[in-house]
Amino acid sequence: MKGYEWGKGTVKCGFCGIHGHNVTSCSAVPIIYKRYCDKLEKDAHYWPSYPERRAKQEMLRRQIKSSTPKKKRRKARCSFCNSLKHKRNRCPKLTKFKAKVEKANKNWRKCFINEANSHGFGIGSLVSVPTGLIGDGYPHSEGSSVGIVSGFDKNKLNVFCSYDKGGLYSTVPAVEVLVEGETVKVIVSRMKADWSKGLIPHRSGWQFYEVLSINGDSAELPDEWYTTDDDDAIKWFFDNISMKNRDFEMLEELIQKWTKFDLPK
Ligand SMILES: [Zn+2]
Ligand SMILES: [Zn+2]
Repeated sequence: MKGYEWGKGTVKCGFCGIHGHNVTSCSAVPIIYKRYCDKLEKDAHYWPSYPERRAKQEMLRRQIKSSTPKKKRRKARCSFCNSLKHKRNRCPKLTKFKAKVEKANKNWRKCFINEANSHGFGIGSLVSVPTGLIGDGYPHSEGSSVGIVSGFDKNKLNVFCSYDKGGLYSTVPAVEVLVEGETVKVIVSRMKADWSKGLIPHRSGWQFYEVLSINGDSAELPDEWYTTDDDDAIKWFFDNISMKNRDFEMLEELIQKWTKFDLPK
């Protein structure tokens, strides 16, 4: 899911350059500030360096902030359904919605495995991979190599693959292929087959290569693969989705459709 992928480690501290926090919580600030104060004590004419000046500024800001009385907080609302009666972790609507997503997701995954197997792209299948996909391959390189479909990553294969409205809540379906000792991600719509439109929406645009099936195989996947356990993308979705979101209605429609989906026999 795009939102999940984009959300990973995107903050970077402008003070110390480390990922995962910003200057307002940076622990290097007080250290640099203390060092500056020590220098100033020894030499009253000491001229601070740029980081020392920034640290001084930031310490001043923190001091002002901690001495200003906090505004009275508004009563907390549920971040999923906006109710004043409970918070998100006790939201009955969210619990219900999660159960539906789980069911829909399981159905989608079953359909996906079904189609992947019947199109010759199940786990263990031999496929022909264009050279351009391997290593730092140039997209227009000619030739191909034989690879093997080696993995179906839960984070890249979920019911949101069939959400064709784009945005944070869409997933670009991709599978892992082992080729020339390297694992490459192949976008499912590049695997040449007649994928059902409801399952894998056709994406327009940049489609230079095609991955072809040479010899299909279809290893079984464990039951856990169909659940949302250890499923970081779905977890991210559950933590972030809100009924106020402008995508919600369309997402709900999609989920509703997939909970009722008749599985191919
Ligand atoms: Zn920092
Ligand atoms: Zn609620």
